[in-house]
Amino acid sequence: MNLTTKRDIFLYSCFLPFLLYGCTSSSQPKFDGERAFANLLEQCQFGPRNPGSEGHQKTRKYLLDKLQRHTNFVKTQDFVYSDQEQKIKLELTNIIASFYPEKNKRVLLCAHWDTRPFADRDPDTTLQAQPILGANDGASGVAVLLEIARIISQKEPLWGVDIILFDGEDGGQEGDLNGFCWGSKYFAKNKGDYQPEFGILLDMVGDKDLAIYKEGYSSRYATRLVDLVWSRAKSLGLSCLKDSVKYFMYDDHVPLLTAGIPVIDLIDFDYPHWHTTSDTPDKCSSKSLQKIGDLILNILYQEN
Ligand SMILES: [Zn+2]
Repeated sequence: MNLTTKRDIFLYSCFLPFLLYGCTSSSQPKFDGERAFANLLEQCQFGPRNPGSEGHQKTRKYLLDKLQRHTNFVKTQDFVYSDQEQKIKLELTNIIASFYPEKNKRVLLCAHWDTRPFADRDPDTTLQAQPILGANDGASGVAVLLEIARIISQKEPLWGVDIILFDGEDGGQEGDLNGFCWGSKYFAKNKGDYQPEFGILLDMVGDKDLAIYKEGYSSRYATRLVDLVWSRAKSLGLSCLKDSVKYFMYDDHVPLLTAGIPVIDLIDFDYPHWHTTSDTPDKCSSKSLQKIGDLILNILYQEN
């Protein structure tokens, strides 16, 4: 993702209010932070997962295998990103896993599965052309969602759930928004009549020292959802969710917001290893993944 100012993009602000009631309540199953952390390690074992790399190909297969264990409704959205000027042509894949497809009221949970092809923030300039491992920036959000997939396959939540793993989020040069969020842009453009009640994007949720501030676009364009999530965090005693806006992030939620889906970005942007070669699993923890997993399950299973 990329840090932006509010002038950089234009969003529609007229979302229909979404309903957070009218469903049956059910007790909340347990999230397993250790299992989620194993999901993070497994992704990192494939190495950097930037589009075009061997790790990218292997991870695509891994994610499909993993999700197909939990639902029969997994599909891929394959597309090509090409930039003739820069002579780039990349094969990309969004991975979409649906749970309880018969339910009309749906929730979108998403994360990006690709990793950045260069470590342009690395303090060692000789390493800046290397791809990053993306333990936090890439693997962490996916790790939580794979564990969520396992849990919701076993116990029906209040809504139908669609997990979307976006490709091509992180290939751009800083400041050039065209280089980011290819997968979510492609999805938003081709979503047809898909209209979930709301969505939550997880990005960089694995930092050992987890601190998630309200993201600016989320707060502005999906205010009620931010309020709901923060009040649930409070009820769970999750002090890692901070009660103020700190950054405006151009992330995968922005194309979705623009397409009329209220999606918020849960992101810890105070991560010193962001876009460096030191974004490795030792900087992440199962405890952080546990906190985010508990929060998501609370939203999926608890009515009020
Ligand atoms: Zn990134």
